[in-house]
Amino acid sequence: MCGIVGYTGSREAYPVILKGLKRLEYRGYDSSGVALINNGLKVYKKKGKVAELEESVIGKDLHAHVGIGHTRWATHGEPSDRNAHPHVSNSGQLAMIHNGIIENYVPIKNDLLKKGYTFSSDTDTEVLLNFIEDIKKNNNCTLEEALRIALKRIVGAYCILLVAADDPETIIAARKGSPLVIGIGKGEHFLASDASPIIEYTKEVVYVNDYEIAIVRPDELILKNLGNEKQTPFITKLDMELAAIEKGGYDHFMIKEIHEQPDTIHDCLRGRLLAEHGQIVMSGIEDHLEALTQAQRIVIVACGTSWHAGLIAEYMIEELCRIPVEVEYASEFRYRNPIIHKGDVIIAISQSGETADTLVALEKAKEQGAFIFGVVNAVCSSIARISHAGAYTHAGPEIGVASTKAFTGQLAVLAMMALKIGYSKGTLSHERYLQLINELNAIPEKVKEILQDTSHIQAIATKYKDAHDFLFLGRGYNFPVALEGALKLKEISYIHAEGYPAAEMKHGPIALVDENLPVLFVATKDSYYEKIVSNVQEIKARKGKVIAVATSGDTVIPSMANDTIFVPDTDEVIAPLLSVIPLQLLSYYVGIAKGIDVDKPRNLAKSVTVE
Ligand code: GLU
Repeated sequence: MCGIVGYTGSREAYPVILKGLKRLEYRGYDSSGVALINNGLKVYKKKGKVAELEESVIGKDLHAHVGIGHTRWATHGEPSDRNAHPHVSNSGQLAMIHNGIIENYVPIKNDLLKKGYTFSSDTDTEVLLNFIEDIKKNNNCTLEEALRIALKRIVGAYCILLVAADDPETIIAARKGSPLVIGIGKGEHFLASDASPIIEYTKEVVYVNDYEIAIVRPDELILKNLGNEKQTPFITKLDMELAAIEKGGYDHFMIKEIHEQPDTIHDCLRGRLLAEHGQIVMSGIEDHLEALTQAQRIVIVACGTSWHAGLIAEYMIEELCRIPVEVEYASEFRYRNPIIHKGDVIIAISQSGETADTLVALEKAKEQGAFIFGVVNAVCSSIARISHAGAYTHAGPEIGVASTKAFTGQLAVLAMMALKIGYSKGTLSHERYLQLINELNAIPEKVKEILQDTSHIQAIATKYKDAHDFLFLGRGYNFPVALEGALKLKEISYIHAEGYPAAEMKHGPIALVDENLPVLFVATKDSYYEKIVSNVQEIKARKGKVIAVATSGDTVIPSMANDTIFVPDTDEVIAPLLSVIPLQLLSYYVGIAKGIDVDKPRNLAKSVTVE
């Protein structure tokens, strides 16, 4: 959500910033802009895509060696040219970009209005900028000092980059709750919301922490806390290649990421699932085995697709570890004064590791003595850093807004966790442990099998692309898969879709069934199979169109369904790793058939850094 890029050094800043903004497009945005310093400030901004900004500046003076750029995801004020960032202060001397929300901007704005300040946008950002300017004027202090004073008085979340017209070298940055990475080059520095705009220039980065201010010049990076004390920058080496964030011959990132899943799941299992030794090695679990095996309760906190992974983990952990599990929407959990006992284990699941609601929920639970385990994809992200322990999903950068490979990575990690904890606790027999290890080990090859020929799924997508509604049904482990299928379809085809437990369908949604309603059953061979066969009959009896995801070799479900997609057989505990793949593909092909920009569907953001 929102992208921030900054550059200071000897290169031309504009091309670096523009390329960086394009790399960050996947995060979701509605407008963009840049501020360059060369004989004063030059600010260009535009509603719409970065390409529109690029077009609008043709012929303009873009020469500068320091600059900042932004893609905005509107929170305060509609997407428009005037609300786009960078904003310029009343004196015309300062420009700022901001990711996040200033919650107490109204009283600050009222004060500034009384003092005669004027505003050319509806944003909270412009208020913060003029607040900084006002403090600087009243205290006759440096910009850095004014920023520090302002940040102590505001409530909210931010990553900001600030430049001054009279200082053509320096970018001042600060963060709380929204990510910021600084790339260290030779006589140059790069600033960005994540590493993707940086990796082609340098692999040495510093992840700025909350409540830190960075003063960045070509040859200098100073980090300070809000108490003005210097902090030692902790330099990390990026373990990422440029190819990982490019389309590599595919039409869209989403389809590339779907096809990467045999490799990403394999990468996730590699070094952890040692099938030949009948072992699972996960240091995040081994180092905290007692906290995890003795937990009286596990609470899983997540949002969106990660929440669905959490629901599947609930089935896995309760069955294999016999520990009660609750799965919570982070946004609800954090605000309802949840009961947390010392010794409770909180598992946080997040692709970006920056999900604002999940992050705050964790901070609260941590304060109350819970043990925090993070399952995240983005290395060194905020959730990874505040967790007591964790396991990365190792899916690589996920650029498509609709999560695919990060989801299967989460399932692979959660399955290994459940197996490891259950076996250590003694609630899982050695024989079943080995059986599940072998099944999990075979998953990457089976995913490959599903992906070998997807033309049948594309044909089904074309057939149903004009439907107004869709129902997704499943039972047991496949119920959350049905929820995920419905979410995916909504996200990238804009078709209304609902996911439901197949048996629960009789208690309401069945009223929707007629010959126009496609009903997708996730009906692989498991202990619920006979029951779901009956549910399919119930839909058929009401003329609903049935699309089924069934196990290869099954003849019963295909004989009833209008269309069937087969997936290889596996153990039901890990069946979602296979049954979700056709649903990802179906959504992708429906989205494409409808001409939708599947990588950047409307209104959605990749990394949801506002609550
Ligand atoms: N709250 C700011 C705005 O609405 C920043 C939004 C963002 O993170 O892009 O302009």
